[in-house]
Amino acid sequence: MARVKYYYDTDTCKYERVKVKTTDIILNLLGFLTFSVLIAIGFTAIYGQYYKSDQEKVLQSENEKLKEFYAILNNRLEQVDKTLTSLQTRDNNVYRLIFEANPIPNSVRMAGVKNDKSYEKILKSGLAKDKKSLISNTFKRVNQLKRKMYVQTKSYDEIIKMVKDKSKMLSHLPAIQPISNKQLTRLTSGFGTRMHPLYKVAHFHPGIDFAAPYNTPIYATADGVVKRSEYMGGYGNTVDIDHGYNYVTRYAHMASFKVRPGEKVKRGQCIGYVGSTGFSTAPHVHYEVLKNNKQIDPVYFFFNDLTPEEYEKILKLASIKNQSLS
Ligand SMILES: [Zn+2]
Repeated sequence: MARVKYYYDTDTCKYERVKVKTTDIILNLLGFLTFSVLIAIGFTAIYGQYYKSDQEKVLQSENEKLKEFYAILNNRLEQVDKTLTSLQTRDNNVYRLIFEANPIPNSVRMAGVKNDKSYEKILKSGLAKDKKSLISNTFKRVNQLKRKMYVQTKSYDEIIKMVKDKSKMLSHLPAIQPISNKQLTRLTSGFGTRMHPLYKVAHFHPGIDFAAPYNTPIYATADGVVKRSEYMGGYGNTVDIDHGYNYVTRYAHMASFKVRPGEKVKRGQCIGYVGSTGFSTAPHVHYEVLKNNKQIDPVYFFFNDLTPEEYEKILKLASIKNQSLS
């Protein structure tokens, strides 16, 4: 029951009953309701922030798991992509170069990738922006890989045909390392700009250095005819082998020779021994591959005696920008 209120009227000198207006009651009620609603909203917001419902918890943990899964997937795809890129490099720089076929341009290897919209349906769903980009990036990556693999397979088909046509040529192309390098520890300096061992300035190193003890056998890397076996200034004792097809290999700083000019040699035949003659800071063989009288990176010609893993390792070793042995 509502309390009855009185007030003292100074005119009548009596206590008079206070009359409550309906509007006052309504206003009071409305005020109370507004206050209650505000409090309720406040509590719900705080509760929502700190206490998630079971369903929300499940969804959140699923979300996290999916993100993790996508991260792993993308990581794997990156590895596959790297392997494929290395196959492409080898394809363009070795096989196609050897057979004088034009390298496949990147535009062809990547053609059609941009136009693939097969994943757009997923993107039209009401997913959050970050999830959409996660999915679309993964799809794009898979599509790129598919395309690259397809082109690579076609390229190999073409190469197989060329190999059949030119099997004789293959034995005349440098394909092994010039010394035994089972542990892959011999390669000490690669092709390209390297530090000069004496002058300590950057210079162009036109070959690959393999460090080895004195008198380690040096092998011809392909069939051919000995063009030179003589002392040649900074190169010291040097053997040049002419393989035909515009290829020549050079072996420098030898201790001694085992072949003479004009002599026919086979791949893997010993042609001399490791030394440190000419301009050299330690016993090693400086090995060059020349095509049309121009030095090219020999690392692309070590494919007969190496597993893919070993080849990867050799590529890495040859790319270290260290000091050459000259
Ligand atoms: Zn060298």
